[in-house]
Amino acid sequence: MRRIAKQAIGGSAAAVGTGAALTMAARTALFRAPKEEPRAPQPVDVDMDAAVHALSSLIRCKTVSNVDRALEDDAEFERLVALLPELYPRVFEACTLTRMDDRALLLRWPGAEPGNPAVLMAHYDVVPVDEAAWTHDPFCGEVIDGALWGRGALDTKVTFNGVLFSANALIAEGFVPAHDVYFAFSGCEEVYGPGASHIVDWFAEQGIVPELVLDEGGAVVRDVFPGLDRPCGLIGIAEKGFMNVRFEATSNGGHASAPKPHSPVAALAEAVDAIETHPMPLRLSSPVRQMFDCLGRHTTPLYRTVFANVDLFLGVLDALTRKSGGNLNALLRTTVAFTQMQGSSANNVIPPSASVVANIRINPEDTSEGVMAYLRKTVNDPEVSITAFDVNEPSPVSRTDCEGYRRVASAVADTWTDCIVSPYVMVQCSDSRHYRDLSDRVYRFSAYDATSEELATIHGNDERIRLEALRRSIEFFTRVLRQC
Ligand SMILES: [Zn+2]
Repeated sequence: MRRIAKQAIGGSAAAVGTGAALTMAARTALFRAPKEEPRAPQPVDVDMDAAVHALSSLIRCKTVSNVDRALEDDAEFERLVALLPELYPRVFEACTLTRMDDRALLLRWPGAEPGNPAVLMAHYDVVPVDEAAWTHDPFCGEVIDGALWGRGALDTKVTFNGVLFSANALIAEGFVPAHDVYFAFSGCEEVYGPGASHIVDWFAEQGIVPELVLDEGGAVVRDVFPGLDRPCGLIGIAEKGFMNVRFEATSNGGHASAPKPHSPVAALAEAVDAIETHPMPLRLSSPVRQMFDCLGRHTTPLYRTVFANVDLFLGVLDALTRKSGGNLNALLRTTVAFTQMQGSSANNVIPPSASVVANIRINPEDTSEGVMAYLRKTVNDPEVSITAFDVNEPSPVSRTDCEGYRRVASAVADTWTDCIVSPYVMVQCSDSRHYRDLSDRVYRFSAYDATSEELATIHGNDERIRLEALRRSIEFFTRVLRQC
C-alpha cells in the first residue's frame, strides 16, 4: 500500500510544476482530521442470554431461498414467522403486523405524534449452504468458542434480531418513539425477490415519506483503507447498479473437421479480451469523494498528500486500480465480470451459436445506457450481438446533511467509539434500492464489526457472529430507535 502512495506521489510530482507542487503541499497541510470530542454514550443494557436465544432460534429455521421456488421449504419460513411473538412479545403487543405477498412482513410501531417515520429493514431468508464444507452444522445456532454459529448469523438475521430485540426492550421500559417506526422485512432478498417492493408500493399508496431508511450495507471494518489503522464505520449512501449483458455470436455450424477461418468462439474471445483490456473509465462519484475526504484526513502523511489532492492523482489511481482490480477498483469505476459461457453441445461440432454473459456493476456516475454504448464501441464487431437484461440503474445518492444520516452516524460512533464514521458507496446491491423514488435518506449499514475473514463467511462457509458483535448490534439499534 505504501508503495502505491509513493508511486502515486512520484508520478504526480513529475507531472506538475513547482507552483502546483506548492499548492499541493498547502492543501495537504490544511487537510487534517477534525478534533474529536470525547463521546459519552448513554449505556445500553443487553440481556445476552435472551439475545443469544432469540438469534439462535432464528438461525435454526432453515429459511433458505432459491430462484427455483420448488426447492424452498415454506414451512421453515412459516416456522420463523410463528416464533416472532414468542421471541419479541412486547413488539407484538405494541405493533401491528401486516403480511404481504412474497413473504414480506411490515410492522408498524405507532409514534407519539404525526411526522415522517423511520423504516428499519432486514431480510430473513438466507443463501444455501455447502454443508460438508462447514466445521459445524450450519443451522445449529450454537455458541462455540465465543461465537454464535449458523447461516444468516451475519446476513442478515443479526440485524433482523437487532431491530426486534432492541424494540422489545425499549417497549418494556415504556419508551414510545416520537414518530412511527416501521420494521420492513423481506423473505426473498437473496433471490432478488419482490417482497421489499410490495412494502415500498404500500408506502407510496399511503403517501408515506420516510425520514430515514436503514438497510444492510457497510459495517465496522479494519484494513480496508490505505494508510489508516483505525476501524471505519462505513455507511452506504448509495449503491452501484447492476445488469447482465449477453454477448452472442452465430455461425452456420458444421463439422469441426473442416472449420471456417473465424469461429463464433474466437469472435467472443476477442470481444472479452477487448473489454478486459479496456476497463470503463475511472469516475469519482460523490460518495467516494466524501469517503476520501473523511477517511483520507486520518491517514499517514504520505497518503494525506494523495487524498488532499485526489484530482491530481486520478491518472495514477486509474493506472494502479486497472492492474490491481479488487475493492478500490470497484469503488472507482463500473466493473465487468465475465461469469458464464456457452458453446457447442458436442466437442466436434462448431457451435451454431455461442455466448458469454457478463455481470456488470454500474458506478453511480454511469448509466446502463452509457455502459452499453461503451461495450459496443469497445467490441466493435457487427458479428457479436450485445443484449442487456436484469437492468438496475445505480441508486441515487442519499443526503448526509440531514437528521436521518446524523442519527445513524451518531449511533455508529456511540457504539464503536474508536471508529471513524464515513459515507461510502456499496458495491453490492440490497433491497433498499427499491426506495429510490420514495426517499433521499436511504442508508446502508450492517450493524456489526467484522474482520475480513468473518466477512468472507457471508455467502461462504462457517458464518458466525462473535457474541461481543451481537451485543453491539443490539446497542446500535437501541441508539437509533431512541432517536426516532
Ligand atoms: Zn446475502
